[in-house]
Amino acid sequence: MKAALLRTAPSKLLIEDLEQEGPRAGEVLVRMGAAGVCASDHHVMEGVAMLPLPAVLGHEGAGTVEAVGAGVTHVKPGDRCILSFVSNCGHCRQCRSGSPQLCDTNALTGVRQYDGTTRLRDANGGEVGQMSKLGVFAESLVGPAQACYPIPDEIPMEVAALMGCSVATGYGTVAHAPGVHPGMTVAVFGVGGVGLNAVQAAKVLNASRIIAVDVSESKLEFATRFGATDRVDASAGDPVEQIRDLLGGGVEFAFDTFGSATTTQQAVDALGKNGLAVIAGLAPVGERAGINLVDLVRQQKRVMGAYYGLSSPHETFRTIVDLYLRDVIDVDTLVQRRYPLAEINEGFAALERGENGRGVVVFD
Ligand SMILES: [Zn+2]
Ligand SMILES: [Zn+2]
Repeated sequence: MKAALLRTAPSKLLIEDLEQEGPRAGEVLVRMGAAGVCASDHHVMEGVAMLPLPAVLGHEGAGTVEAVGAGVTHVKPGDRCILSFVSNCGHCRQCRSGSPQLCDTNALTGVRQYDGTTRLRDANGGEVGQMSKLGVFAESLVGPAQACYPIPDEIPMEVAALMGCSVATGYGTVAHAPGVHPGMTVAVFGVGGVGLNAVQAAKVLNASRIIAVDVSESKLEFATRFGATDRVDASAGDPVEQIRDLLGGGVEFAFDTFGSATTTQQAVDALGKNGLAVIAGLAPVGERAGINLVDLVRQQKRVMGAYYGLSSPHETFRTIVDLYLRDVIDVDTLVQRRYPLAEINEGFAALERGENGRGVVVFD
């Protein structure tokens, strides 16, 4: 089985032949259909997010179930599935209290499966982990059955793959943010994969203004295709001032889908009174943002983090699958580039260059 793995960071991915064990109880074997090239993988390759290595990267994917382990009942061989990058255990405090996307057990076991072991070995017999228990940059994967969300045949694999991370995160972050309402004013900082889906979620929710903020004129232009009403080029002057020029009192909601000290600070500064800044992008580990505390109090601003769309990933998948099938959201246009697994590093080079939309690894 061929897979793209990371042995050290910072580094590019290596394509290697790995030995794959079959699914144990509660696990599935999935033949990969498509996998998205996401900034979260790139962070690990750059060494600004940590993962025990070696590991097969990739957490945004979809495929077809090929075999199931003992006790697996909700999927069967032949089922096409979106894969969730948080396989909730169902028993920890977060799972029990309605935040399965924050599953404690999933975080504790990391790149290993729930029994603490790995399913992959390299040519020398060394253990290889799987990012998010998945590692979708591989011809096939063995992972927890609860990662699988079965989908109808009409959904193309590359669309299903994107639903696993960028669509669920971008859509869910906006749709599940507290207090969103028709007519709201919104700014979205960063219009990459997650940001474009935040923009289209704001459109679905009938926001009156959707201001896209980015440093790339071409990405801003692309964002108008997903519903952005205004564009702010942050490379052409202070984006907060530009937002206040558009909307005197600031915005009601600011979504930071990029994740950095700079963009988070700008998102909070761009808020009007009682505004809410939602931070969905992952900043480099250790980064901190300066917040104007007097402003925070006197203008009653709020700041919150949002992980994986703020809700149960499977529930978000259910919604976005329906919206896609009814042509309410556009996922097809997000797919701008396709690569075979062997050329995956070219996909990350395009991400570094800031090209529009998403690159997707497609498998035969
Ligand atoms: Zn991702
Ligand atoms: Zn759990």
